[in-house]
Amino acid sequence: MTGPRRPPSVDALLRAAEADAAGLGARDRAAVLPLARAVIADERAAIAGGAAGRAPADLAADLLGRLEALANGEPEGIGGPAGQPGLVPVINATGVILHTNLGRAPWPEAAIEAARAAASAPSMLELDVDTGRRGRRFRAVEDEVVALTGAEDALVTNNNAAAVALAVGLAGRGGVAVSRGELVEIGGGVRIPEIVRRAGARLVEVGTTNRTRVADFEAALADGRAKVVLRVHPSNFAQTGFVEAPDAAELAAVAHRHGAIVIDDLGSGALLDTARFGLAHEPTPRERLEAGADLVTFSGDKLVGGPQAGIIAGRAGLVEKLRRDPLARAMRPDKVALAALAATLRLYRGGVAHTAIPIWRQIAAPLDELERRASGVLAVLASGPALVPDGSRAKVALAVDRVESTIGGGSLPGQALPSWAVAISGLAPQRLLAALRGGEPAVIGRVIDDVVVLDLRTVDPTDDHRLADAVRAALQRATLGTRA
Ligand SMILES: *Cc1c(COP(=O)(O)O)cnc(C)c1O
Repeated sequence: MTGPRRPPSVDALLRAAEADAAGLGARDRAAVLPLARAVIADERAAIAGGAAGRAPADLAADLLGRLEALANGEPEGIGGPAGQPGLVPVINATGVILHTNLGRAPWPEAAIEAARAAASAPSMLELDVDTGRRGRRFRAVEDEVVALTGAEDALVTNNNAAAVALAVGLAGRGGVAVSRGELVEIGGGVRIPEIVRRAGARLVEVGTTNRTRVADFEAALADGRAKVVLRVHPSNFAQTGFVEAPDAAELAAVAHRHGAIVIDDLGSGALLDTARFGLAHEPTPRERLEAGADLVTFSGDKLVGGPQAGIIAGRAGLVEKLRRDPLARAMRPDKVALAALAATLRLYRGGVAHTAIPIWRQIAAPLDELERRASGVLAVLASGPALVPDGSRAKVALAVDRVESTIGGGSLPGQALPSWAVAISGLAPQRLLAALRGGEPAVIGRVIDDVVVLDLRTVDPTDDHRLADAVRAALQRATLGTRA
């Protein structure tokens, strides 16, 4: 092979780009210089690795292609030399409905529309229609929370971790009493004791790991060590056996007798009764407020099924105090999240949450429909082109399998929903999982007993065909090189 043995200069590359039919056009020359240098650095590395050098015109086409992608807001090339993959679209076939690593809840259509509208034009975000002066920031979403929970007032933060950190600040320099059974790590290394300390409050540990009674709290409240009682939903683990936790209403009554505030971190904050779908009953924000909690906090992107947000609901005086806390400003969500959250919450009031909100649709999906879809994906795979390359020794077997989906996202630990999956055996499972992950769209599955399973419950039904195509492509890649 022949070709240039060294790359062109940056100037020569830019001249070649100007000469190309596409040309650099109105592009800012100074802004594109780093990418031009990167193209040349890649070329130098390729030549050093033994590749034939490319002509300046070819390098110019490479540069222009990457610039075009950037101009469209896209990554400059998935898997490309200098290209960082962007947010690669994924088909979630894990059976974990709220997969934190996959971005938790997909938004309902109404939330996407509301977000688009909020992003594309100015809005009455903080302007009072009547006075024309500054008003409260997007009241609509707080009014929705009030309507759904029966709270006196509500406040929305960036996420629930922020909501908890802000709320425990109500203790001032006083103590925050937490049961030893609820001193949890939420995930990502975030721990309740650290959140309390960082809020400037003092942690008062109460009871034991497995058993905590109202009397344990009363001791901490009676001698004034604690000003706040914090209940934390042990959302990502379950305790069984010799365990006891105080009744919410009894604990609230005792706390109030001693002038303390009760904050209940619900984690997921289900706004529908999970028992309707064959799951354990998850306490709702309304129930906990009725049981006497002064404030409840929960996430927007767990069982609410909307955008990332933290929701604080409860007593008007306390919420107002939090609203005026300077930290609230540091934790406030942007207009897009607020608009999307308001739209999501309206679906609950409209009585269509279980059909219009993707995560509830997934939770509610009937078993026979999942079986039908799994069989459908199998049929598409069986009827199309060969699943493995000609001459491959790989013996791939496909089947439909009964599996169990979970809620995930630190919600309803130990609870499972029966489901149906496409099961693929005959290949090293990690190799196939990697091939599925490497495709576009990427497919994320899991392994049960050496079999790769793709759970249909967490796959949007409109993606079933794409799933089949992605599986076929991944099988081709995973079995390349296994030729006889
Ligand atoms: C998930 C969770 C949090 C954190 O919520 P984010 O919205 O992820 O910040 C806090 N507390 C509990 C009990 C949780 O389950």
